[in-house]
Amino acid sequence: MTLAVSLDTTTPLDDARLQLRDAVESLGLGESVYEQLAHARREMSVGVPLRRDDGSIELLLGYRVQHNSSRGPTKGGLRYSEHVDLDEVRALAMWMTWKCALLDLPYGGAKGGVTLDPTRYSVAELERVTRRYTSEILPILGPERDIPAPDIGTDEQTMAWMMDTYSVASGYTVRGSVTGKPVSLGGSLGRATATSRGVVHVALAALASRGIDATRATAVVQGFGKVGRHAALFLHQAGTRVLGVSDRYGAIHSATGLDIDAVGRWVDLHGSIVGYPGADAIDPATLLELEADLLVPAAVEGVITADNAPRIRARVIVEGANGPTTGAADEILEAADVLVVPDILANAGGVVVSYFEWVQSNQSYRWNLDLVESRLEERMRDAWDTVSAFAAVHHTTLRRAATRLAVQRVTEAHQSRGLYP
Ligand code: GLU
Repeated sequence: MTLAVSLDTTTPLDDARLQLRDAVESLGLGESVYEQLAHARREMSVGVPLRRDDGSIELLLGYRVQHNSSRGPTKGGLRYSEHVDLDEVRALAMWMTWKCALLDLPYGGAKGGVTLDPTRYSVAELERVTRRYTSEILPILGPERDIPAPDIGTDEQTMAWMMDTYSVASGYTVRGSVTGKPVSLGGSLGRATATSRGVVHVALAALASRGIDATRATAVVQGFGKVGRHAALFLHQAGTRVLGVSDRYGAIHSATGLDIDAVGRWVDLHGSIVGYPGADAIDPATLLELEADLLVPAAVEGVITADNAPRIRARVIVEGANGPTTGAADEILEAADVLVVPDILANAGGVVVSYFEWVQSNQSYRWNLDLVESRLEERMRDAWDTVSAFAAVHHTTLRRAATRLAVQRVTEAHQSRGLYP
């Protein structure tokens, strides 16, 4: 028997802090800037007692971390997963600060999480968890304080319950208290597919920068949920052959390219890509190593590691998920000249349209889909141009370029405001 020993020794929070360390040093900022940005401004840990449908009571743990608010109210998703812990939420909150700054949104970064596997709870139980968690963190929420949105394991229904709980406590309906809510409650047109749209805008620009024509390119997408499913579909619609996709239950491959519309219909009927008749089932672990021009990891963090990075054959990686590449893997990919488009740029489309939704909710006004999508495309292309130009001038990776730009913007805001008292 061989024991698999991971070569990655860092956690997502370690990686986030190492990225910050590099940015602070290369920008010539002092140690106190690092210290202030390495730690969140506000963190709340809460116990969330849940009455199960059978009458028993279970105590769940929840968190909300507000990393930085120098540029505005804090913004970021709420995650329901059995892997959630405070350090993971801290890393994700820091990345939200950089993402919002990079896209020039008037927000700081935050993240929330409850440690639970949502597939093990009924809808009624999830509603009770959401309402109780929202009540526990109510003092630090609000449209001008901190605005949640969906993330892994949560969706527009979760946001509807949060908005309702917040509104009941306020005594009036506060549409701007969450984003990613149903369109019938003031959700934005185009929000549900915004992250995927943004991933594909950036992917097409990244492929072009490497001289690869999207209509001749091949791609592999890990994850077939909120981000991966539509990223695969929009790539397919752009003429890219999607050779493989996976979900939490399995992975499928077709050498000639998958019909992503048909895969989507199969998932709607069966709840998973597993068993899809037009492709071969493959080991999900080998999906990332398939020969393709483009790899889109759109599931969870820490999937591209020092163990598998040497076997990755894609020339361009576009991070649909937050933190899918470990720090050690990043170095291996850099040495192999793989272009990695970092999460804080690649998957920012979601929070960009969250911002559009918040603006619409606060103004009680609806934008049409064309307006949302054209403004999203403009923001994503501008951010791509800014980051890739910075990386070229400074001879560095897109991740370092993006983090430095973001840290610079946050620091400028912080320094202009000055320190109180
Ligand atoms: N959870 C998404 C992210 O990680 C969206 C956050 C938001 O819209 O506030 O970017």
